[in-house]
Amino acid sequence: QEKDYQFMLRTRSPGGFIPPQLYLTLDQLSDDYGNGTLRATTRQGFQLHGILKKNLRTAIAAIVKSMGSTLGACGDLNRNVMAPPAPYKNRPEYIYAHEYANSIADLLTPQTGAYYEIWLDGEKFVSAEERPEVKAARQQNGNGTIFQDSEEPIYGTYYMPRKFKIAVTIPGDNSIDLYSQDLSLVVITNEQGELEGFNILAGGGLGRTHGKEDTFPRIADPLGYVDKADIYEAVKAIVATQRDNGNRSDRRHSRLKYLMEEWGVDKFRSEVEQYFGKPLQPFKPLPEFKYLDFLGWQEQGDGKLFLGISVENGRIKDEGAFQLRTALREVVQQYNLPILLTGSQDVMLCDIAPSDRAAIQAIFDRCGVQVDPEQIDSLVRYSMACPALPTCGLAVTESERIMPEILERIRALLDKVGLEQEHFIIRMTGCPNGCARPYLAELGFVGSAPEHYQVWLGASPNQTRLSQPYVEKLHINDLEIGLEPIFVYFKQSRTPGESFGDFCDRVGLEAIRQFAVAYQSE
Ligand code: SF4
Repeated sequence: QEKDYQFMLRTRSPGGFIPPQLYLTLDQLSDDYGNGTLRATTRQGFQLHGILKKNLRTAIAAIVKSMGSTLGACGDLNRNVMAPPAPYKNRPEYIYAHEYANSIADLLTPQTGAYYEIWLDGEKFVSAEERPEVKAARQQNGNGTIFQDSEEPIYGTYYMPRKFKIAVTIPGDNSIDLYSQDLSLVVITNEQGELEGFNILAGGGLGRTHGKEDTFPRIADPLGYVDKADIYEAVKAIVATQRDNGNRSDRRHSRLKYLMEEWGVDKFRSEVEQYFGKPLQPFKPLPEFKYLDFLGWQEQGDGKLFLGISVENGRIKDEGAFQLRTALREVVQQYNLPILLTGSQDVMLCDIAPSDRAAIQAIFDRCGVQVDPEQIDSLVRYSMACPALPTCGLAVTESERIMPEILERIRALLDKVGLEQEHFIIRMTGCPNGCARPYLAELGFVGSAPEHYQVWLGASPNQTRLSQPYVEKLHINDLEIGLEPIFVYFKQSRTPGESFGDFCDRVGLEAIRQFAVAYQSE
């Protein structure tokens, strides 16, 4: 008899958009076939854990019939395309970011019918009509990017060397960690708010392997600018450059970031231009990026409201008096509201009539869910953890399950050293793959052995600079011993208003190590 293999299902939801019917289906599936919880991922999708192999077809078919999909959410191809979740209807640049996240997701969707044959007996449900220009762009041969005889004109027979991650954002909004992506596009509009084109960055990626110095996190480099009419050809050119030149013999070195590192930006750009057929234009100046999370009650610019809810580690569950899953189900059912998932594992209810606000607030109050971001500890608000144990087979130690305790202990330690109101971005993962992007956290924990973590310090608070490894193996019981000197040094020597990450970067890890040795010998 075959074993009861368990699977994880992940949705494809560009820009994090989850229509109400799909949310209710996922909620039901988590009871029928999953572990009774839903998990918002760091790439704006939902994951369902614990699906038995025999139930996979039923679960996937239910998702597709509810206007959802899991196609391309895993595998060596373009993954879920991210975009800022902000549903501002009076900010055209946000509308463009969502529109192009969808179009690029469609452009790079595998064309094979195998998905539908395997999971839906060949019945092809289409969640939304593909835009004709996207279909045309896929079939157009931009200087050798196309496989003429293949049913996959962009991917060809062998797909990509490895996963490929894309985000589309607007100037100043880094809610989607644009520097961590293989390819990021920044919407450029004119003074009238009309779309002109896109700045392009490429070569970001965070995954690494412990003890292998030739694997490393890397942030994306500015590559250039293209007019809006050329954007699909530019995306295809970059995908094709990685497709044809990425390392296919060693999966540890197969991401685009290694190609970029090996070639340098100039060679990479000129190779892309060969496929593109013309030069990329110079990168346009941009304002500074900010970390944004869009929590709480806000106006969305069309007379309606949205409500961003902080979800600790993205886990939507009912546990004792905390009934988040029940609250979301009730609200979505009664008010037929779509959900947007953020890049920091939070959820947002959109299109709320102001007259429904009080009743919706009452549901969350009754279910013990705090939706006022000012009432949530800011360490919790700005933290992320990957699932790790028990659901991820690659985990070497705990992450999501231990994070609440870790944050409480860090809060107590900050209180002890006189940094009561301090907060910064903390992220944790159960292995160096870095799914919760710990290398862009001001304080990052990366599982290095059972109950041990590598500690990373010094990323910027807006995720534009990487952190550096400070300690290789900190036992979880020694958390306070390891962190107290760093916090004391920070309190003593920070400049006014300086963030924790900027402080660690300014003084340098060696100075922090020396301070810690002196402090501990006092
Ligand atoms: Fe699993 Fe590692 Fe990703 Fe965490 S970071 S979910 S342990 S692969």
